[in-house]
Amino acid sequence: MNTQQRNTVPDQVATPCLKCSKYIGFCFGVQRAIEMAREAVAGHGAPIRTLGPLIHNPQVVAQLRREGIRDVKRFTHLKPGAVLVIRSHGVPCAVEQRMRARGLKVIDATCPFVKKAQNLIASLARDGCDTILVVGEPQHPEVEGLVSYGTPVRVHVVRSVEELKALKLAGRVGVVAQTTQSPACFRKIIASLKRRQDIQLTVHDTICRETNRRQRDALRLARQCDAILVIGGKNSANTARLHQRCLAINPRSFHIEQADELTPEMLRGAATVGLVSGASTPVSIIAEIARIAAAPAGRPQ
Ligand code: SF4
Repeated sequence: MNTQQRNTVPDQVATPCLKCSKYIGFCFGVQRAIEMAREAVAGHGAPIRTLGPLIHNPQVVAQLRREGIRDVKRFTHLKPGAVLVIRSHGVPCAVEQRMRARGLKVIDATCPFVKKAQNLIASLARDGCDTILVVGEPQHPEVEGLVSYGTPVRVHVVRSVEELKALKLAGRVGVVAQTTQSPACFRKIIASLKRRQDIQLTVHDTICRETNRRQRDALRLARQCDAILVIGGKNSANTARLHQRCLAINPRSFHIEQADELTPEMLRGAATVGLVSGASTPVSIIAEIARIAAAPAGRPQ
C-alpha cells in the first residue's frame, strides 16, 4: 500500500488495541513432546517417527518433518529398532503393547496430566466400578487411549447432560474428564449425576490446569473485547472448543490458523481485539497475526 492509500484508511480500520491472553503458545505437554522428539533425533539420528502428527498444528508439523520427525498413521511397516514417539495425547494400552512387541524403540511423550487420567481410570476399574464415564470427545485420540485403560469395565464417553440421560447407570460410577474438556460442561454433567440417588459416584476432575486457565482467560477477553481471534490449527480440538466458548459470549469470535486468513471484516470497527490460542499454537504465528492486526496499513484488504 502506498502513502496516499495509507492516508485514506477509513476510521473503521483504525488500529485496534490488542489484548493478548496471558496463556498463549505451547502448553507444557506439547512443549515437552516436541523437545523429546528433537532429543530423539539428536540421540538416534533422523528420521524418527511419531504415531500421528506430534501436535495439531500443520505449520509446526511441517517444520518438524524438515527436522526428520515424520508422522506415520501405522507402525506395522517399521523395522525393529526404529524409533517411534507416542505423542502427548497417549495411545490405547493395546497399541503401546504392539509397538513394544514389534521391537520398536518407544519414546513415550504422553503428557503427565494425560498419564494421570489414564492411571485414575485404571484404578477405578480395579476398585470395582460398574461403569466409568469419560467426559470428552469420543473420536479424540486422547479419549480413545483413556477408554482403553478402563477395561474390562463398561466405559462410556459423554459430551453433554443430554447424552448422559440416555445412559442406564446403576451401582458404582466413576467419572474422569478428557484433559482439555470444558470445565463448565464437566461441572454440569457432575451436577446432574450428583442429583441421582441410585448411584455411588467417584469423580476425578482431570481437566488440566493449563486448559482451565486458557479457557478462563479467553472468556474474560471475549467479554471485554469487540472482537476475538482464536488462533490455532483447524484440526485442534482444544482450539475449536475455545472458539465455541468465546462465540457463546462474543459473536465476533473467529478461529484462524494463519495470518493470511485475517480479513478486514473480522476487525472492522473493533476498538479492542483479543488474541487467544490453543495449546498447540506456536508464539511465532500469534506474533505474526498480532503484527498484521495492529497495523491498518498491513491489514489484508
Ligand atoms: S493441554 Fe494439558 S494435558 Fe494436554 S498436553 Fe497440554 S498440558 Fe498436557
